[in-house]
Amino acid sequence: MDPGADNSGLNLVDEFARVARALAEHGWAQENAGNLSQLMPDGTIIITGAGTTMPEVAVDPGRALVRINAAGERLYGFYEPSSEVLAHVLTYRAVRESRPHIRALVHTHSPGLLVWSSLSPCPQLAKDKLPEGGIAVNPYFPPGTRELAEACAKAAAKGASLIVWERHGAIALARTLTEGLKMIEAAEEAAQSAVYADGS
Ligand SMILES: [Zn+2]
Repeated sequence: MDPGADNSGLNLVDEFARVARALAEHGWAQENAGNLSQLMPDGTIIITGAGTTMPEVAVDPGRALVRINAAGERLYGFYEPSSEVLAHVLTYRAVRESRPHIRALVHTHSPGLLVWSSLSPCPQLAKDKLPEGGIAVNPYFPPGTRELAEACAKAAAKGASLIVWERHGAIALARTLTEGLKMIEAAEEAAQSAVYADGS
């Protein structure tokens, strides 16, 4: 398959590979954790395959990526779509009217944000590290469930650009995968500083 073929000249497959490599190098995507997706101009979605690892996406994105329709059903690809496919589909749907520029979702297991979100109350994060739209924290729901996907979509509909899934990970809503990666990197840095300052 050539999932980047209709991406208006951008080499989307390379971008998936680059962002996946960065997540793996950060240590935020152990085993098969983390997933990435891009909303295409025709309304289909390119998403990482279920069970694929970020190093696999980095090395062989053409094999690791799956194209799905707006309902989350696989159109092309070797793998089933990511186990968090419903969270991706419902989140795009939640911002389709209000923020049509949101075209990429980056989900990682970034440790600083996880520790930060477990503190009560969550310490303030440096505002210059937070994306426009701000950060939301969702209560825990088991991975891959409709409850998790719906909670994420609800936070997205309210305007959040970065949503922390308590005791699980975080997802960035961005224009591009690269922008989503940068959003998570900045928020992770802010979270680590805040946790350190908190003395926890
Ligand atoms: Zn996850």
